[in-house]
Amino acid sequence: MKEKLNKIKEEALKEHIPIIMDDTLEVVDKILKQIKPKKILEIGTAVGYSAICFSEYLEADGIIDTIERDEERVKEAIKNITELGLDKKINILQGDAVEILPTLQNKYDMVFIDAAKGKYPFFLQQALRMLNKTGVILADNVLYKGYVMSDYNKHKQRTAVRNLREYIAEVTQNPELETEILEVGDGLAVSKWKKGM
Ligand code: SAH
Ligand code: MG
Repeated sequence: MKEKLNKIKEEALKEHIPIIMDDTLEVVDKILKQIKPKKILEIGTAVGYSAICFSEYLEADGIIDTIERDEERVKEAIKNITELGLDKKINILQGDAVEILPTLQNKYDMVFIDAAKGKYPFFLQQALRMLNKTGVILADNVLYKGYVMSDYNKHKQRTAVRNLREYIAEVTQNPELETEILEVGDGLAVSKWKKGM
């Protein structure tokens, strides 16, 4: 398992696929140990690396639903997941998350947002709709190489930066949520329902 996982990681890095960074993964591992999830939703599978890592913390009968729109990556993810015997636990939904999310009617203990940055506010709205009372929403890359917190706003990444700022504003200002923005990896936002909500 460890060996195969390292191979997946090395290959993804070689191909410049933005898989979860080690320090971010450490934080997520800690959270997963606490919440003991039965159902996880991931937006952005890539080649399955993060989903495979998270699957270690699933309760018995637990499931990860993970969404990916890139056909080649879906193929690679299916291959990796099957080789590790995790195809009963990790369920890949192929297509655009913007279209797939509104069709889902499950409740999740964790939602991991890790796809198109320009869509984070929409992903948040969908994640909140499906989040269990004790669930947690994690959003990766929210600080986007420091662009989000600087006065950076003229570039092709402008829409991404604007939407990431909007995401942060929403999770920090929503009176029902408790949010921490952690400076691990490329920035990780951790949001849960406020107690008593
Ligand atoms: N979570 C993975 C990395 C995901 S990289 C890991 O840590 O191992 C982000 C992925 O999101 C890319 O593979 C990209 O194709 C996918 N993606 C981006 N926007 C998407 C969308 N709107 N719907 C579905 N997948 C999307
Ligand atoms: Mg990421």
